[in-house]
Amino acid sequence: MSKIPIGVSQCLLGEPVRYDGGHKRNRYLTDVLSSHVEFRSFCPELAIGLGVPRKPIRLIVTDGQDRIRGVENSDLDVTDALTKEAEDAASNMQDICGYVFMQNSPSCAVFGLKRYGSNGQSIDSRGQGAYAKKFMELMPLIPVEEAGRLTDAGLRENFIARIFALHDWRQNLQNDPTAKKIIEFYSRYKYQVMAHHVPSYFAIGKFLANLSDRPIEQINNEFIQLLMTALGHKATRKGNTNAMMHLRGYLKLHINKLEKAELSNSIETYGKGLVPIVVPLTLLKHYLMTLDNPYLKNQTFWAPYPDELGLRNFVLEE
Ligand code: SF4
Repeated sequence: MSKIPIGVSQCLLGEPVRYDGGHKRNRYLTDVLSSHVEFRSFCPELAIGLGVPRKPIRLIVTDGQDRIRGVENSDLDVTDALTKEAEDAASNMQDICGYVFMQNSPSCAVFGLKRYGSNGQSIDSRGQGAYAKKFMELMPLIPVEEAGRLTDAGLRENFIARIFALHDWRQNLQNDPTAKKIIEFYSRYKYQVMAHHVPSYFAIGKFLANLSDRPIEQINNEFIQLLMTALGHKATRKGNTNAMMHLRGYLKLHINKLEKAELSNSIETYGKGLVPIVVPLTLLKHYLMTLDNPYLKNQTFWAPYPDELGLRNFVLEE
């Protein structure tokens, strides 16, 4: 598989572009994920000509509007310039499959940015960086995450799973869809979707069972939105246990009583949070691969991303 293009806040790659001349190198990105992705790094504050070092800016609520203004000089308002950079970046990065933003930045933050009143008093933490906000509005399909949240095993796993799924779709379906191809593509994702969100599993099944005369491009776009929404739900222990129990059903006639008990015990031990998913999954896969069933063999649930990322070596939340 070719390296996956993803956007990233430039300071996260260790480049000294922060207002104080520093950086926020994120070792997970530079030392681990970099083997699988091609970073498209961008610093919107640098792009609008603020320079390094520069005076700090922050989100100020003025007349009910979120504006990004200078801390020392509130006449400096860079909201529109940052928004314009997001419009340009969105049109230049049409092929990306994810974006990692820097947290707490008036330009790049996605979650919980502090908002201030004109008097300098803190109001709440419900803001977003002006660049990130506009970018996400223009590219709603793209999985986004903040670097700081990637320390959470569940959030990290979820983000990476979505990046790989979107890349798979871009490579295999985006430009040349047919109804048959969409159905075949989704058949590989069934158990992964089941693990993430059962209602979506049924909704996508229903969607694909009723492909009307609409243009295939429209159907394909609706399909990928449904798939990305489904995978946007975190795969919990409960969800993974459910998917593995369903897969276990294929072995009913193929393994003996002792092997069944060992497998069930392994899945249940995982369900209780005592071992990571890699333990029951290895056993389940070992048995299922002997069936020589292409539908089962090709399930993305076995490896939604490369094993070396180590994303399945953690005990997830319930
Ligand atoms: S957080 Fe965004 S704007 Fe700030 S230095 Fe990093 S890339 Fe540039």
